[in-house]
This record gives sequence, structure tokens and C-alpha cells, in this order.
Amino acid sequence: MTISEPGSRVPAAAGLKIVALAGGIGGARFLRGLKAAAPDAEITVIGNTGDDIELFGLQISPDLDTVMYTLGNGIHEEQGWGRRDETFVVKEELAIYGVTPQWFGLGDRDIATHVVRTQMRHAGYPLSQVTAALCDRWKPGVQLLPMTDDRVETHVEIEDEDGRRFIHFQEWWIKFRANTPALRIIPINAESATPAPGVIDAIKNADVILFPPSNPVVSIGTILSIPGIRRALMASKAPLVGVSPIIGGSPVRGMADACLAAIDVKSSAFGIAEHYGARANGGLLHGWLVAEVDNDCVLDGLKVIARPLIMKDLETSRDIAGAALELALSFS
Ligand code: GDP
Ligand code: CA
Repeated sequence: MTISEPGSRVPAAAGLKIVALAGGIGGARFLRGLKAAAPDAEITVIGNTGDDIELFGLQISPDLDTVMYTLGNGIHEEQGWGRRDETFVVKEELAIYGVTPQWFGLGDRDIATHVVRTQMRHAGYPLSQVTAALCDRWKPGVQLLPMTDDRVETHVEIEDEDGRRFIHFQEWWIKFRANTPALRIIPINAESATPAPGVIDAIKNADVILFPPSNPVVSIGTILSIPGIRRALMASKAPLVGVSPIIGGSPVRGMADACLAAIDVKSSAFGIAEHYGARANGGLLHGWLVAEVDNDCVLDGLKVIARPLIMKDLETSRDIAGAALELALSFS
């Protein structure tokens, strides 16, 4: 993919310090657009680690890897997660041994990343340093920071024929396809987690803060559940602009509506805006970018702009990120 119109960059963004929170696919595709819209900006990404899971002795950070592979040009494009040109020999061999779980899509190339992460973690390196080391290879063009070096895991309470219990978010999302309603979604240990090195400084020094169209509950919501991060965002003077992950009432991809239902938030651009809250009324957002079908979204104290919001390719992602940036810059 090449970009032909330099006019669609945001010239005023040159040299700006931009902080973006991010989950996996929605975050990564938006960030790829942001890099194209603001190639001379300094971008710091605070990544969700609540989806992290240990399987087969390997430490897996799905959202950090999705951002790293997408920005480093190694992502499986159609799928939106995992490596391109992937093979699954190890997964097949494990299945023949009868090793469980078998629902996690662990690819051979991907396993190398998890082996490096696990080895370094066992040698005593915190996740932030491991992520930096992995990014030495992938060169994502942003500073990618995990939200915390502490272990925080999102668990989901469900009730089915096996009773009422908590399962790991990944099991609910992948194995159950979020079909069994979530009674509660809890980021275990978030309350006592401290932000990873660099996170608070990045927020303090930011000129602009962005929420990509990542899942408001299990991606952005998990990052915000770390008290130090939420406090720093609220204390920041930088304009904070979010992009709606819900278009005309439904998530473009995935099952975000099932997560929103668990926290009693309506699956709509308005519902999420109300959930994040307008800064003017003690919430987080200064501006909110919605899809054109949602241009009736009005929340007291919030500046709302409507644009096409489907990230079909690099160009459309760049235009969305550019519009979010321009909205943010309209406050300065
Ligand atoms: P995950 O960790 O891989 O689930 O990814 P994120 O949390 O970063 O993003 C998932 C969210 O992205 C989903 O809830 C979708 O609603 C949203 N999303 C995916 N593709 C698009 C798109 O093209 N446009 C918009 N506006 N949202 C999208
Ligand atoms: Ca995720």
C-alpha cells in the first residue's frame, strides 16, 4: 500500500508528542493510519496487557504483538492478528499429544516471539524491556509500552451447565466466541498495578492523547482500570479525542457489544461517549469522532465530528487518524 496524496497528512502534527492507548486490531490499524497522517510526530502507544495469558509455558501478549506485527509489517492482513505466512505445525503436534487447550491459534512463527518473551521474563527482564527488545526487530516506528509490568489478567464470570465461574478472557472470547453472556468482566490485579516505566511521563508530556477505536471494555477499559493511568489522563492538559469502535450500533469486527452489555453500556457511539464522559463534565473526552450514520450523537460538553470510520486500508485509516488529530488540534 502506498500513500499518494501528501495533502492528507496533518502538517501541524509535525514534532507533536502523541500518546495513544491501544488494544489489538482496532488499535493497530488506527495507529498505522496515525503514522501515515503524522509521519513526523513522536508517537507513544500504551498497550493493553489484560489479554496476556500463559499457555504451554509460553508468555503470550496478544495485543502488544498485534500492534508490533501490524506496525512492523509482519501481520496477517486479512485476519488482523498473528503472522503472515504462518504455519501451525507445533499446534498440530501438541493436539496429537492431547495437550490442551486447543482453542488458541498458536502459529509457528508467532511461537518464536513468545519463546523470546518467556526466556527474557525468566531471566528477570520486565515486560516493558522485553517489548522494547522485540521491537528492535520489528521497528514499529512508535514507542510501544505495555500499560504495566505487573501481571494483570482480564477474567470473565459466566454461568452455564458447568456452573458459575471465572474464566480467562481469551477462553471466553475465542473458545466461547463470547456467546455465553459475561456476568462480570474483571481486570484482576489492575487496582494495585503500577504503570510501566515511561507511561506516566509520556502522558504528562503529551500534546495530544488519542483513544483509537479499540474495545472500550477489555482494551481501553482495562488500561484505564490502572488507577495511575486514569489519574494521569485526567490531570493532563492535552486534548483527548476518541474514535468510536461502534458504527450504527454494531462493532465493525468482533464481539465488543457482548463486552459492553456486561458493563451495562449501550452498544452505540453515544453509549460509549457517555461511558468515557465529556471532560467538561468530569469525564475523559474533549472530542469524539463518530461514523456518519451516528451524526446524531450529542453529549453535553463534548465536541463530536462525523466521518467515514471503516478502516478498509491504509488510506482510510490515515484519514480517520488525521481527522482525530485535527479534532484534537482544534482545542489548542
Ligand atoms: P482487539 O484487542 O484485537 O479486540 O482489538 P481492539 O480492542 O484494538 O479493537 C477492537 C475493536 O475495533 C472492535 O470492538 C471494533 O468495534 C473496532 N473496529 C475494528 N475495525 C474497525 C473499523 O474499521 N472502524 C472502527 N471504527 N472500528 C473498528
Ligand atoms: Ca485484545
